[in-house]
This record gives sequence, structure tokens and C-alpha cells, in this order.
Amino acid sequence: MSESISLTINGQPVTVPAGTTLLKAAEQAGISIPTICYHDYCTANGLCRLCVVEVEGSRTLVASCVAKAAPNMQVQTHSERVLRARRTVLEMLEASVDLSEAPEIQAFSQELNADPQRFPDAEKRQPPVVDDNPMYVRDYAKCVLCWRCVQVCAEDAQYTFAINFTGRGFETQIGTFFEKPLPDTSCVFCGQCVGVCPTNALKPKRQWLMEQGYSTDEIMDMTRTERRRRKRAPLSAE
Ligand code: SF4
Repeated sequence: MSESISLTINGQPVTVPAGTTLLKAAEQAGISIPTICYHDYCTANGLCRLCVVEVEGSRTLVASCVAKAAPNMQVQTHSERVLRARRTVLEMLEASVDLSEAPEIQAFSQELNADPQRFPDAEKRQPPVVDDNPMYVRDYAKCVLCWRCVQVCAEDAQYTFAINFTGRGFETQIGTFFEKPLPDTSCVFCGQCVGVCPTNALKPKRQWLMEQGYSTDEIMDMTRTERRRRKRAPLSAE
């Protein structure tokens, strides 16, 4: 039988199996903590910091998606300090990323009264849309670098390793090795990355073309032709 851990969340006693994260312990207590990078079927990495909580005795806020429950822990999930930190994360995202197609994140911003204009001098990241294959487009101006697509492409699902982080700092982006077009990589176009993307940075090509105003016949024609052309084209030799 697995060991049980008793702790207190927002003053409420909770008992969970050893190894449970604070996020899941809160969920068990009926307390919802907002997340962006976390996904139930991906390995949690504590990247976005939206799920931070206050733990008594801890100098810094901790990411609840990775921090494990410990005996007698006293946790606050919605203290003023926590809410201020979450608001700032959202305001920084608003300042640098196009969140127009990220309804979940927009809802968090509204809920927390985040001010989208808090950092008016911040520079938005605006890389061009990558349209290099017949299956999906990559619009990294909408990417919050949550890492979910990279994880499902790797050990969390597909074991394909076609994409990873590239660049540093402001230039950090998801990309392919040596910036090769996706058809020249190990990508098998399983679509799992598109499925887990929370911001529509990854979008099915046909949906994207419809949004550009093309008719379904034109789209069928364009994607069919492109598939044939790519099938015939040899892989670039390097
Ligand atoms: S492309 Fe989407 S899934 Fe991938 S890191 Fe960016 S926001 Fe996350």
C-alpha cells in the first residue's frame, strides 16, 4: 500500500498518496490552479510558472505542477503574492506573444485582471509563419514556448525528435535541427504537436488556408499538388 501524505491547502486538510504534486493535491481538494505548459499527458517541467503556489517556509513560490506534497506542508494557492506573480506572467506573455487564438490564456488574464498594456515598450516576437509542408503551419508569433509540442514529439508520445528549442533569450523558438523544412526531418506528421498546442501556433494547413479565404476545392487542389510535389522531391543532401 502506498504511503499517504497529509498537508493543508488553503487551510483545508488534504491527504494524498506520496508522490502527488501540489497541483493534483489541490485538484483533489476541489481547488483549481491555472496552468499553461502543464498537460495531463506530458511530463511536467514547471516552465510557464502560472501554477506557482506559496509554501510556508519556502523563500520562493514553487511550481505546483512539479513540487510534490510533503507531510504537514502548508500551501496557499491564491494568496495575494501568488495572484500578483500569475498576473505578471500573463502580462509579460501579453507583451511579447500574439495570444489572439489562445482563449484559455485570455480567460486567465481576465480572471486575474492582468493589464495587457503593462509593458508598453516591450517588443512582440514576430517571426514569419513557417509554411513548409502540406499538413500544418507554424506561426511562432503565437508560441508561448510551453514545450508541449517538443515533448509529444519526443519521449512523451511519438519518439520522433523532429523539433526542439533553438536560439537563446528573445530569439528562443521551437525549430527543427539546422532549420531544415519539416519534410526533410524525422517528422512523420502524426499531428500530436498540433493537438497539444494551447495557442494555435501550430495549425492544420487546411484550416489555415480556409482562414485565408480559400475555398475547399482550392485547398484540396493546393494541398494535393503540394503533397505530390514533395513526394517527388528528393531529400536535400547535406
Ligand atoms: S508551438 Fe505551441 S505547443 Fe509548441 S511550444 Fe509553442 S505554444 Fe507550446
